[in-house]
Amino acid sequence: MDFQADFIIIGGGIAGAGAGYELSRLGKVILLEAESQPGYHTTGRSAAVYSSTYGQGDPVLRALVLGSTDFLKNPPEGFSEHALLHPREHLFICDRDDLRPLNKLHDDLARVTDDVAWLGREEILERVPLMTEPFLEKALLERDVADMDVHALHEGFLRGMRSRGGIVMTDSPAEAIEQITGGWRVSTPTGTYEVPILVNAAGAWVDQVAKLAGVAPIGIQPLRRTAILVDPPEGVNIDNWPFVTEAQDKFYFKPDAGKILVSPMDQTPSEPCDAQPEEMDVAYAAHYLEEAIGMPVRKIDHQWAGLRSHVADHHPVAGFAPDTEGFFWLAGQGGFGIKTAVALGRITASLVQGKGLPEDLLAFGLKQSDISAERLQK
Ligand SMILES: Cc1cc2nc3c(=O)[nH]c(=O)nc-3n(C[C@H](O)[C@H](O)[C@H](O)COP(=O)(O)OP(=O)(O)OC[C@H]3O[C@@H](n4cnc5c(N)ncnc54)[C@H](O)[C@@H]3O)c2cc1C
Repeated sequence: MDFQADFIIIGGGIAGAGAGYELSRLGKVILLEAESQPGYHTTGRSAAVYSSTYGQGDPVLRALVLGSTDFLKNPPEGFSEHALLHPREHLFICDRDDLRPLNKLHDDLARVTDDVAWLGREEILERVPLMTEPFLEKALLERDVADMDVHALHEGFLRGMRSRGGIVMTDSPAEAIEQITGGWRVSTPTGTYEVPILVNAAGAWVDQVAKLAGVAPIGIQPLRRTAILVDPPEGVNIDNWPFVTEAQDKFYFKPDAGKILVSPMDQTPSEPCDAQPEEMDVAYAAHYLEEAIGMPVRKIDHQWAGLRSHVADHHPVAGFAPDTEGFFWLAGQGGFGIKTAVALGRITASLVQGKGLPEDLLAFGLKQSDISAERLQK
C-alpha cells in the first residue's frame, strides 16, 4: 500500500518525536520506528538530567538547552499530566590530591553562568552525609539543574503530533529509500511512503539510513555508556541528594526513584546495535560509588547501556544535506539529546520552511553553521 504525506521521519526516539511535534503544525507527518516501542534505544536509557552547562559550558549546547528551557519549565496546556522537570542540585566533586580539574571546571562554568558556587566540607556533608574524605576539600554547586521526566516529554511530543494528524508506525524499519521526482519513497514491511521531505533521526543508525538513500554520511560514531541502579545503604534517605559528577568525568551518581543510579561515564566506540553493558564497566560503576560514599555495593538491581552518538565536533547536526534535496539530518545528540530536543524540534520546523534559526536561538548565540551538515564536509 502507498501512503503520501508531507514529511517522513525515520526514528521514533526523542529527536524524531520532538521534530514530529513541530512538523505536524506544518503538514502531515509519518514517523517510522523500527522497534515495537519508540523509546527502545538511547531515549529510554538516559540519566534524565537537565543542565544548561552540559559539556563544560559549551556555547552551542548551552544555546540549545536554553532554547528548550521555557517549554520544559512551562509546557503548553495539556502537553503532559506531569511536570517535565523536577529540581535537583548538581555537585561537582574532585579528589583532594589534585583539585586542578575542579578549579578549571569552575573557571569554564563561571564564564557562562552565575549559577556556580564553591562549597566547603560542611556544605558537602549536608548534601551527601556519606561523602568520603578525599572528596570533602571543596566542591562546586550548580543549582538550576533538574531530573527530567523523559517518558512524559517523549509521550507528550508523540501525543501532540498525533492530535494534529501525525501517524506513528512502529515495527516499521526503513528498508529501502529511493529518491523520486519531488521527494523520496521509503519502503518498510508495513507500507511504502512518498514524501517531499525525509528527516533522518535514526540515532546511532543515521549513516546507515543515509547509505540507503545514497546520501554522503556525516561520520556518526556511537559511544556506549553504562549505568547501574543499586539500593541505598539501610536507613539512609537519599531522595534529596544532588546529582554528583566527578570533575574529570570519571563517574556520576544520583537518586533515581529510591535507588542510586551510577555511571562510570564510559564512552566505548560501538557499532549501531542494541547496546548491552560490559561486566567491566558495571564493576567500575560499583567501585566508583564505593569510593565516593564508602558503601559496599552488594547487589546491582539493574544494569544497562545506551549509545551516545556524536559527529567529530560533538555538536548536533540539524539541517538539509548540502548536495541532496529534501534530505534533512537530525543527528549527533550525544549525551544531551533529551534536554535539547525541544529546541532541535523547533529548529527543524524553522529550517524546513527556509526561515533560518528561530529568533530566540539566534539571541542565545547559536549560528546555523554550528549545527549544519555542510560543516562536516569541509
Ligand atoms: C547512559 C546515558 C545517559 C544519558 N543521559 C542523558 C541526560 O542526562 N540528559 C540528556 O539530555 N541526554 C542524555 N543521554 C543522551 C540521550 O539519551 C540521547 O541524546 C537521545 O536519547 C538520542 O535520541 P535519538 O532520538 O537521537 O536516538 P534514539 O532514542 O536511539 O532513537 C533513534 C531511533 O531510530 C530508530 N531507527 C534506526 N534505524 C531505523 C530505520 N532504518 N527505520 C526506522 N527506525 C529506525 C531506532 O530504532 C531508534 O528507536 C544519555 C544517554 C545515555 C546512553
